[in-house]
Amino acid sequence: MEFDTIAAISTPMGEGAIAIVRLSGDEAVDIADRIFQSPAKKQLKDVPTHTIHYGKIIDPDTQEMVEEVMVSVMRAPKTFTREDVVEINCHGGLVTVNRVLQLVLKHGARLAEPGEFTKRAFLNGRIDLSQAEAVIDLIRAKTDKAMNVALGQMEGRLSKRIKRLRQEILETLAHVEVNIDYPEYDDVEEMTHNMLIEKASYVRDEIEKLLSTSNQGKILREGLSTVIIGRPNVGKSSLLNGLVHENKAIVTDIPGTTRDVIEEYVNVRGVPLRLIDTAGIRETEDIVEKIGVERSRQVLKEADLILFVLNYNEELSEEDKKLFEAVKGTDFIVIVNKTDLPKKIDMDEVQKLANGHPIVTTSLKEDRGIDELEQQISSLFFKGDLQADDLTYVSNTRHIALLSQAKKAVEEAIEGIEQGVPIDIVQIDLTRTWELLGEIIGDSVHESLIDQLFSQFCLGK
Ligand code: GDP
Ligand code: ZN
Repeated sequence: MEFDTIAAISTPMGEGAIAIVRLSGDEAVDIADRIFQSPAKKQLKDVPTHTIHYGKIIDPDTQEMVEEVMVSVMRAPKTFTREDVVEINCHGGLVTVNRVLQLVLKHGARLAEPGEFTKRAFLNGRIDLSQAEAVIDLIRAKTDKAMNVALGQMEGRLSKRIKRLRQEILETLAHVEVNIDYPEYDDVEEMTHNMLIEKASYVRDEIEKLLSTSNQGKILREGLSTVIIGRPNVGKSSLLNGLVHENKAIVTDIPGTTRDVIEEYVNVRGVPLRLIDTAGIRETEDIVEKIGVERSRQVLKEADLILFVLNYNEELSEEDKKLFEAVKGTDFIVIVNKTDLPKKIDMDEVQKLANGHPIVTTSLKEDRGIDELEQQISSLFFKGDLQADDLTYVSNTRHIALLSQAKKAVEEAIEGIEQGVPIDIVQIDLTRTWELLGEIIGDSVHESLIDQLFSQFCLGK
């Protein structure tokens, strides 16, 4: 395929000090040569592939030195995009990086659209669609665990499982063909019937397994939406501060991520908590009074987790009991705070009201209990023996939708087989299942879908 040469600023994960101007395309090396000067006056077009070179970026029009740089030259096809790639590593701040970018744009490159590097990798056959989408997730990954999931997907873990399933369906379809071609053999039909049920059930079970990871996957990707509630003065703000201070607030230096959203995330033992509307949390002090029990129940229902704070130093009030009503139906943890003060709360009653939900006692003032709270949050999320590191999590909305449709199609096939419908009808359902799974890894996707997907990327990826 033929493309023009694109360029963008691309900051590597976790290396804030260095920014890279990345070029990809046939002219990448030529364009770099126009603005690069090495001490030995060597030309980048003469250097071996996959080498890195020290030099200066000079504005050819003014001869002004813009930046000292290290330039990597990587020739096709062993590059991310499978095109010639040049990376100009700048050590200065954003301003100089921008000037370097402006220079390459002036001298022949075009500013890349968001996600265009990855799109080229896809279009040039370097990665499949689910791997490309994993790049989006990687950019957005909120914690190390979320990053592992995204990395696993990028390495093709999900692709591999999908491909295996599709292979299974293909083989099954081949058997069906045999049956259609040689209907006179009764035993073939018999075998086909049993085999079909078995294979189709296997496919359904596998799809179900993948789907069952989707909730965890979604949370790892988007964060556990968490609301802190409780009467005024019980210690909600202190809890919020405690959680934020104990855990590194999750920040990235990827351009294009919105700071104010990022700042609401904290990483609790690998579980990303998305503290809903930080400003709003302080407003929830009298949430029940303000918007009524019904409405507040609605708000609270949308949360994945409620941290419900009580005061150890006060008797349970009517308002506390109303809050217990309001949190019913959502995962919640009761936090009885201010244990450094004399006990006035009736813990037996708290126990009863909590109705099996975890209760943690804390003194946020003296920094006690936060550990146990974190433990509770983490075990609530990683129920059973789920481990973020070694599972294929399906966390992409598009994948989930396709898997659900595929599951429905294969269930229709199974139902058809059981009811003895003509085999070519079953064949249609199985083929549809095969196609839907194919869409996950980018077989048979429409052009517009591809454009839409890649426009979600940050610039420079
Ligand atoms: P909020 O109104 O629920 O957000 O409560 P705050 O976090 O603003 O805390 C209210 C007051 O209680 C502040 O003066 C805090 O310093 C204090 N406080 C919070 N946690 C504790 C605690 O564990 N023990 C004691 N003695 N005071 C606390
Ligand atoms: Zn407060």
